[in-house]
Amino acid sequence: MTEDLDTTVYYDDDADRSYIDDETVAVLGYGSQGHAHSQNLSDSGVDVIVGLREDSSSRAAAEADGLRVETPADAAAEADIVSVLVPDTVQPAVFEEIRDGLEPGNTLQFAHGFNIHYNQIQPPEDVDVTMVAPKSPGHLVRRNYEAGQGTPGLLAIYQDETGDARERALAYAHGIGCTRAGVIETTFREETETDLFGEQAVLCGGMTALVKEGYETLVDAGYAPEMAYFECLNEMKLIVDLMYEDGLSNMWDSVSDTAEYGGLSRGERVIDDHARERMEEILEEVQDGTFAREWIAENQAGRPSYTQLKNAEETHEVEQVGKPLRDLFAWGAEDEEAAEAPADD
Ligand code: NAD
Ligand code: MG
Repeated sequence: MTEDLDTTVYYDDDADRSYIDDETVAVLGYGSQGHAHSQNLSDSGVDVIVGLREDSSSRAAAEADGLRVETPADAAAEADIVSVLVPDTVQPAVFEEIRDGLEPGNTLQFAHGFNIHYNQIQPPEDVDVTMVAPKSPGHLVRRNYEAGQGTPGLLAIYQDETGDARERALAYAHGIGCTRAGVIETTFREETETDLFGEQAVLCGGMTALVKEGYETLVDAGYAPEMAYFECLNEMKLIVDLMYEDGLSNMWDSVSDTAEYGGLSRGERVIDDHARERMEEILEEVQDGTFAREWIAENQAGRPSYTQLKNAEETHEVEQVGKPLRDLFAWGAEDEEAAEAPADD
């Protein structure tokens, strides 16, 4: 354990596997996170049951991977720890199916805090409620584990009925390989709000908007779409890799002085005070539940806006230009593997 930062980071030595070794873990869902958690736990010697609907197309995959499969209700009834890894929008309905199978002292375990934090799932008072959230897509959680490495993760305790919630969550984090890399303790609120803000304002939303505006600016000014694609989308990865490896300065040190001066003197003219105000607005909508209510209503209505937005994104010119270009150039096998989607319904 290190407490050099304001926060505690847990490693393998901090986990006591006896808290999970004699337990049965039900993993509900066999998608991105579900397939990784269940296989890693099983390889770590933990008794795992995968919970899937009778008609789930993931059943065959889970069975082929050597795992026992039951319905979510049966798996949860048999298990001591129930790990809820179906999509966030589906979790409240699945919770209704498993509620009766939760016994006093069981653990309800999540990989994201949305449904607990926004009260879409109200767990019984006599169970522990924990979160172990790998900060990575599931296929990397699995791949890193098989390579003997770990995936950094978050841990949070919402309800500690037994007094052992943290120990069990740490043992779970050990079982999926997260404590090999380091696990930071947070809260359901902090994880949920920072995750939503990050994906909306910076990562998924902010970055794609930046790419499209840059692309359109060049193309509208008469430059070749292929040039605009390489400049504004393809090179994004190279820059992000440098920041990921060793921070902003590492990136600035690796580009030319011209790029460094131009970027340092111009970047904040694009992402300016106006953008900052919008970020603060978006954060407020996350904090006061406006976004959560909108997303829940959107799902109840059959996702009309979501479908429209998704279609507009798919038909954007940068997508039309990018596809044949990507086919023309040889990218590394590693990238292809990373882009592979996991088995899904
Ligand atoms: P996913 O969409 O990849 O997989 C969901 C799986 O749930 C499907 O494969 C299927 O087996 C099952 N499922 C789908 N619809 C269902 C239904 N209607 N009823 C019952 N089962 C159904 O989900 P995911 O991305 O692994 O997300 C699971 C949890 O992990 C979420 O809480 C998510 O926020 C969290 N999480 C995801 C990631 C990630 O990178 N994908 C990272 C960290 C945390
Ligand atoms: Mg996320």
